[in-house]
Amino acid sequence: MDARDSTNSSATIYDDEVFKMACDQFSVIADYLNIDEGDREWATYPKRAVAVTLPVHMDDGSTKAFQGYRVQHHIALGPTKGGTRFALSLSMGETAALAMWMSWKCALAQLPYGGAKGGVAVDPTKLSRNELEAVSRRYMQEMIPFVGPHTDIMGPDMGTNEQIMAWFMDTYSVYMGYAVNEIVTGKPVAIGGTEGRREATGRGVVYLIERAMSMLKLNPEKCTAIVQGFGNVGSVAALSLAYKSGVKVTGISDHTAAIYNPKGIDVKAAEQHVFKKGNLRAFAQDDHVDPKEFLTLPCDILIPAAVDRVITGKNAGQLKCRILAEAANGPTTPEADRILEKRWDEIFVIPDILCNAGGVIVSYFEWVQGLQAFLWTESEVTDKLFRILEHSFAQVIRRAKEHKISHRTAAMATGVERVIKAKQVRGLFP
Ligand code: NAD
Repeated sequence: MDARDSTNSSATIYDDEVFKMACDQFSVIADYLNIDEGDREWATYPKRAVAVTLPVHMDDGSTKAFQGYRVQHHIALGPTKGGTRFALSLSMGETAALAMWMSWKCALAQLPYGGAKGGVAVDPTKLSRNELEAVSRRYMQEMIPFVGPHTDIMGPDMGTNEQIMAWFMDTYSVYMGYAVNEIVTGKPVAIGGTEGRREATGRGVVYLIERAMSMLKLNPEKCTAIVQGFGNVGSVAALSLAYKSGVKVTGISDHTAAIYNPKGIDVKAAEQHVFKKGNLRAFAQDDHVDPKEFLTLPCDILIPAAVDRVITGKNAGQLKCRILAEAANGPTTPEADRILEKRWDEIFVIPDILCNAGGVIVSYFEWVQGLQAFLWTESEVTDKLFRILEHSFAQVIRRAKEHKISHRTAAMATGVERVIKAKQVRGLFP
């Protein structure tokens, strides 16, 4: 099935390479699960989507209008949940693809959510703090009729952070007249955020890498890792691998530089550098390499933790890693997947919807604590996180082995199956 060939003309608002990729991935799973043709479009297209225009007064006295989006994929299992991306290239189609992936991810972890995603087509690094606050508040203001603690809960994603979540929470609360901290997750602990949320995604990634190393009988102290992206997820994963697991981190990168040193990188110094300078451009300049070759450098563990579609038909055959831990959403194209499937005994793939699920799992804990006015300690949060990840990991590995399918097919099939089942028992509405 190609959902985009539908006679339903409203579907064209999602036309985009990333949405096509999410539909192509779904088709593989739908064939494997023998899903009826009639149920396929229904499962891929979002239930609801909204586009908003955000006029903002800039510091230089001009007025600029930014485009914002929010997509709610399905509500068969509960309210929708998903991050907010601030990135110049963001489109409705990409937002819809990210919402669809969130659905399979939440269902795989058995969280009571449908997937959602939103964001603004803006480069946040080009805005002053005042402008960033104005864009964030205006975005939430426009979303008020569309979201709520029992309808759609926002969180952070690329280009957004705890401060932006605090502005979202405040804007929503000002409108309601009381503090509604359950409207967003990933907010600062000082206003009802949970301990351990900031680190959750990277920490989950490393938990799963450790499980994979143990299955493959790899000694962490003899392993090397390359991490693409040094933001929230990539930096936490790199720090945790280097200082907790004992893995030597030989490569790190961001949108300004790719750094590789086979003797190892001082990840703490890199973190301090980014804290002060905002990026890696001037860090370890003697070790800078061509970003295009970065992912194919030799290592045991490769972690794409930045943008989508970086592992493609062109470079998948050249990857030299033993474990591919997909911390980013959608880093591997379906064409690359077909190559990786043939290399299944060389490369152990931890697919994105499993690998980066730590973020939404701890967001779920934050939402539960907010609704119930509970306060959990960091170790309670982390223990519960690892328990859910362990269960999901074991299910995926078992299914892949029993059915001789890839880890991605096993993970997605488990999530898709749960959503389809819930939709079928409820009816056409969700
Ligand atoms: P972030 O904005 O904190 O960091 C993104 C990093 O990627 C930055 O270092 C940026 O410089 C770098 N980057 C951007 N474009 C790049 C490029 N072309 N090449 C190399 N590096 C590049 O974002 P984040 O929250 O760390 O998210 C990273 C990825 O993880 C995204 O795909 C996101 O959807 C996914 N993810 C994030 C969370 C979360 O909790 N934050 C949860 C699940 C999945």
